[in-house]
Amino acid sequence: MQGGRRGDGDGAAAGAGQLGGPPGGERAGGAAEAGGGARRGEGAGHLGAVTLPGGQVADLLGTPAGAHRWLVAHGLAPADAALRETCAERLRVLREWIRALLASRVDGRTAPADALDAVNDALTRAPAASLLLWHPDRGLHRAAAHPTTQIVEHALAALAADAADLLTGPDADRLTACGSAPCNRYLLRHGRRHWCSTRCGDRARAARAYARRTRADET
Ligand SMILES: [Zn+2]
Repeated sequence: MQGGRRGDGDGAAAGAGQLGGPPGGERAGGAAEAGGGARRGEGAGHLGAVTLPGGQVADLLGTPAGAHRWLVAHGLAPADAALRETCAERLRVLREWIRALLASRVDGRTAPADALDAVNDALTRAPAASLLLWHPDRGLHRAAAHPTTQIVEHALAALAADAADLLTGPDADRLTACGSAPCNRYLLRHGRRHWCSTRCGDRARAARAYARRTRADET
């Protein structure tokens, strides 16, 4: 499943890394956006956790309602889906495995085998298949899995495909971690920019200006 290539070369794999970035926000390099929505996002590997001013982290996948909003914003779930905590948990777990793969790629380390297994498991789910079941009255019959489970597994497969495409695609060499602490997102480097968002860029510039002033005051 192709997540989100959109001709501008910057929206690669819009889904994978992002799993939960701010909908519609300031993303631009869509790299690891694990979701498939906002394909222009700047944040590559943030997958749902957003660092707020002051350093707190907001997890957009932290609750079933939050995860549902994130999936809807990324075109991965209908507005009336009823996610459960187990669904949100599955998304959070996949996010961590994708982040582990992004980290290994950025650092040039061996890809963790358990992360590969998890992404491959998500990739190979076939949500369209109706299962063979047995019931005392009906006997053998086929039926779809729980609709919400299908939605979530479809989303997991789409996000995993985005991540896999990103990690093996031509943009993989541009993957980098956001240089604006305490942000922990990944992005696709674009020229000299090495932060995931305007907000992180502003924070980095403000921190540099503050450091300069502090040094000037000391001399
Ligand atoms: Zn950032």
